[in-house]
Amino acid sequence: MPAEPFGTIFEPKPGLLRTDRAAWRCLQGCREALLLASIPAPIPIDRWIEHPLGISFGVADLSHLGEAVLGAAFVRDQEILISDRITHEGCFRFTCAHELGHMLLHRRHAEVFHETLELPSLQATQLERQADRFAAAFLMPIPVLERELVEICREEALDVDYCLTELMIPTVRSEWLWRTIFLPQIMRRFGVSQTAAIIRCRDLRLINQPTREFMPIRFENALRERATAPEQAWMRVRHGRPVVCPPEPRGRQEE
Ligand SMILES: [Zn+2]
Repeated sequence: MPAEPFGTIFEPKPGLLRTDRAAWRCLQGCREALLLASIPAPIPIDRWIEHPLGISFGVADLSHLGEAVLGAAFVRDQEILISDRITHEGCFRFTCAHELGHMLLHRRHAEVFHETLELPSLQATQLERQADRFAAAFLMPIPVLERELVEICREEALDVDYCLTELMIPTVRSEWLWRTIFLPQIMRRFGVSQTAAIIRCRDLRLINQPTREFMPIRFENALRERATAPEQAWMRVRHGRPVVCPPEPRGRQEE
């Protein structure tokens, strides 16, 4: 199968190709329908779910579906509902994209998707992982990520080639760049949580160089250790434990 033109620098790890392709196709469809010259960052996920994707969208009390339900995708009814208990912007946006992933990829598997307190079956776990990967690829598509990385370098008066090389090697300088410049900028520009940004960067590699990961694996834990309290709660949610995102301390970030 010929590779789709994701980007010129990065490609997803092999296991992520399918979800990256699906997310990119959907994004391109939205861009064309809206007659946009390029895909904006952050991706207007909740707006695009309604138009041009034509899926009903709402924020509602989902407690009747279960204590820990953050979002639900009603495939047959073409409706996505997000819990009104989510106050963390990154968590809200990721949940929207996750449910969209179920809607587009999993219509053959079930009519309704939502997180439950019950332990998921093996197949359900795989579908949840796939929806998470779709969400990351949809909110941080590779070509847009590349474009924004160049913009970050320009804004910070950093040399692009130097940074791209430096970021991929596990040095003190590289960790400093990630921690103080690139992670916060990616979070702000894409409207994602720190965890989502770290996982996405960890899952990209240089084109045709399987061993060159964009973010060195060893940084993952080091960078995550300093996650904020809402971030840590969200990480527990994403690992299937029933924790509802607490309020974001500094208020929602405006786009
Ligand atoms: Zn799900």
